Amino acid sequence: MINADVLIIGAGPAGLQAAIHAARKKVSVVLVGKPENSALAGAHIENYLGVPGKADGSEILRIGTGQAEGFGCRMLKENVTSAARKDGGFEIVTETDEAVRAKAVILATGISRVKLGVPGEKELFGRGVSYCAACDGNFYKGKVVAIIGGETEAAASAELMTAYASKVYWVAKDIAASENMVRKASAAGAELVRAAAKAIKGDDRVNSLELDNGTVLELDGVFIELGAKSSADLAMDLDVMPEMDDTIKVDASCFTGIEGVYACGDVTGKPWQMAKAVGQGAVAGTAAAEWVRANVGK
Ligand SMILES: Cc1cc2nc3c(=O)[nH]c(=O)nc-3n(C[C@H](O)[C@H](O)[C@H](O)COP(=O)(O)OP(=O)(O)OC[C@H]3O[C@@H](n4cnc5c(N)ncnc54)[C@H](O)[C@@H]3O)c2cc1C
Repeated sequence: MINADVLIIGAGPAGLQAAIHAARKKVSVVLVGKPENSALAGAHIENYLGVPGKADGSEILRIGTGQAEGFGCRMLKENVTSAARKDGGFEIVTETDEAVRAKAVILATGISRVKLGVPGEKELFGRGVSYCAACDGNFYKGKVVAIIGGETEAAASAELMTAYASKVYWVAKDIAASENMVRKASAAGAELVRAAAKAIKGDDRVNSLELDNGTVLELDGVFIELGAKSSADLAMDLDVMPEMDDTIKVDASCFTGIEGVYACGDVTGKPWQMAKAVGQGAVAGTAAAEWVRANVGK
């Protein structure tokens, strides 16, 4: 059994920053999670303050992990399989049956983007397949792209991409986006194609998108914008009820409303961006450590 003042679940930018801020408040901190499973691991970042160019997300995670450990955080690179409230605190169990007991918990478990499930999607991820126009749009300046998805989020991405790409196809069989957003995307020049994606094709990089009506669109990039599911399942075990969209609601100090439980990063909702994850991580780490010091004692 490992004991900690603050337990953090999730080893992405939110969890790592929370670990740094909590550890610097001189409480004992354990972080459970695998940095390689963070959304950042497959990403290139060019919109984070002070980090110019196309920064490698895996490298940011490697450095961040070292920083957190350097300030005294103990890392367990495992998944949490169960969580519970116990004896006025919290207890989690990992996939190797390691138990961690803590006075406060920070949920930094991120989201997983909804997949399209067509051939080529996985193989060409990061080589023309993206799940985030707001993140990767700039890499497609002057190129031809398709946005896939019928919701407002996809329409907004289609509109956004008209500011970067030379041609934007918005591919959706059924449209559930708001009328206003549909109008905006069309007015901006996105061409609505009423079909479903059948396969994403390319060798080294994406070069075309095959549709279920037989059409093949020649293009450079495909943005799959079908929304995301948060990894908030553990929250309910700690008595935190996720919102209808599966996100965890927090206040300005990242407090969930359940004593001793905080949340930060993508799991709290949009924007799904590193800057917000890091900002909330700092807030949650500080708040959890201060709560332990003030209410439970060290
Ligand atoms: C392709 C791509 C490109 C992107 N580009 C940009 C960009 O240019 N700019 C930008 O700002 N953002 C970008 N993002 C978004 C950015 O990566 C995320 O906003 C950020 O990583 C969110 O941080 P997080 O810590 O909240 O979640 P994550 O980084 O996803 O980390 C979540 C962590 O929780 C862990 N976890 C989940 N469940 C459990 C469990 N049961 N037990 C233990 N651990 C668990 C995961 O393993 C992971 O370690 C991009 C994302 C993607 C996918």
